[in-house]
Amino acid sequence: MRLVFATKINNVSIDINKVRADFPILSQKIYGKDLIYLDSGATAQKPQCVIDAETEMYTHWNSNIHRGVHFLSNQSTDRYEKSRTIIKDFLNAKSEKEVIFTSGTTASINLVAHSLGDFCIEKGDEIIVTEMEHHSNIVPWQLLCQRKGAVLKVIPVTDCGELNIDAFKSIISERTKIVSVAHVSNTLGTINPINEIAQIVHNYNAYFVVDGAQGVQHGKVDVQAMDCDFYAFSGHKLYAPTGIGVLYGKEEILEQMPPYMGGGDMIKEVSFNGTTFAELPLKFEAGTSNYVGAYALGEAINYVNSVGVDNIEEYEQDLLKYATNKLSTIDGLKIYGTAKNKVCTISFLLDGIHHYDTGMILDKLGIAVRTGHHCTQPLTERFNIDGIVRASFTFYNTKAEVDALYDGLLKVKQMFS
Ligand code: PLP
Repeated sequence: MRLVFATKINNVSIDINKVRADFPILSQKIYGKDLIYLDSGATAQKPQCVIDAETEMYTHWNSNIHRGVHFLSNQSTDRYEKSRTIIKDFLNAKSEKEVIFTSGTTASINLVAHSLGDFCIEKGDEIIVTEMEHHSNIVPWQLLCQRKGAVLKVIPVTDCGELNIDAFKSIISERTKIVSVAHVSNTLGTINPINEIAQIVHNYNAYFVVDGAQGVQHGKVDVQAMDCDFYAFSGHKLYAPTGIGVLYGKEEILEQMPPYMGGGDMIKEVSFNGTTFAELPLKFEAGTSNYVGAYALGEAINYVNSVGVDNIEEYEQDLLKYATNKLSTIDGLKIYGTAKNKVCTISFLLDGIHHYDTGMILDKLGIAVRTGHHCTQPLTERFNIDGIVRASFTFYNTKAEVDALYDGLLKVKQMFS
C-alpha cells in the first residue's frame, strides 16, 4: 500500500490522519478515554498491512521454508527471501548474505558475543560498552568476559546524556577487540555519533557492533556509510510483529566467524565424522526461522518506506521540539537526556513524585507511558535515580497528544500537592 502525501503543512509531509487510520489499535478507547500511546520505544503498534501480512501467510502460504519442493514451500521461501532483500536495501547492506534473521536485538547481540567472541577474544582482551546501554548490550558481553577472562570497560555519559568521546579515546587500547554501542539510547533518546566512534574503533583494528534497537525506526540507517561491522535491531520496534529481528554483519567478518547455534538449515552435510556448514546467511539461521514474522517485517519496511524515512524523521523532530518546549514549562519537571542529537523520546521525573505513581495516574487518563529503569540500571544509577517516566513518541503521535500528556501531568501534580 502506498500513501499519497498531503502537501507540506508546517513543512511536514506526513498525512497524520491517514497514518493514524493505518494503525487500528490507535482508535481504541481505554477506560472510556482515547488511547494515547506513548510507549513505542518498548514496542511499536502495527499498521493494518502488517497484520494482514501475517494473516495472508497463515491463510495462503504457510509451509516450512527452504526444504520443500512443493508449491507452498516455494511460495513461503520466496516471501522470506524477498523480505531479506527488502531489509538489505533498507540498511544499504552490500548483499543478502549480510542479513541474518534472528528473533530480535537481544538474540542478534548474543549471536555476535558468542560467535565473534569465540573467534577473536582471548584472556586479557578488552571489550568496551557505554554507560547508557540496554541490559541486552551489557550482559552478553559480561558473560563473554567471564567465559574468556576478558575485561569489560565502559564509556561514561555526560550530564546531558551524551557519550564522553574524550574518555572513550583514553580507554580504548591495543587490547580492545570489540566495541558495542547503542545507536540511540532507549532511556535518554540520545543519537550517538556512530561514524566518529567507528573511525576510532577501526583505528585500533577492533570490531564495532551497533545496537540499533532504537535507531532503525527514527531515521535513515546506512550501514556502509556508518562503517559499523554489525547492526542489530528488532522488528517489533519497527512496526513488525514480535519474535523477528535482524543482525547485519559485514560479509568478510561473518565468513570468518564460527556458527552460533547448530541444527537444521545451517548445515551443508552432516556425518558422525564431521559436519560442514551452509553458506551465509543460513550458516547463522539454525532451525525453523520465523518466516511469517520475516515476511511481515518486509511489509513493515515497505510501509515505512511508503511514508518516507525522511518524512518520519522530520515529523518526529518537529514533535520532539514541541513536546520538549511544552513539558519544560511544568514547574518541578526535570527532563533527563538533553543531548543536541535526540530522537523523540522524553524521560522525566516530577519533583517529589515517584515515577510509578506518575505512570499509574497517566494510565487512568488513557495515556500509556513506561516507568522504571528501562533495562538501563547502570544509567539510572549514574543519574542517582531508581527509575524514570519515559514518553516515547513516533510518527503516529500528535501535538494534541503532547497537550494531553501535559494536562495529565498537571493533574498528577495536583493530586500530590
Ligand atoms: N537495545 C535497546 C537499546 C533496546 O531499547 C531494547 C529494547 O527495548 C533492546 C536492546 C532489546 O530488544 P529486544 O527485547 O527486542 O531484543
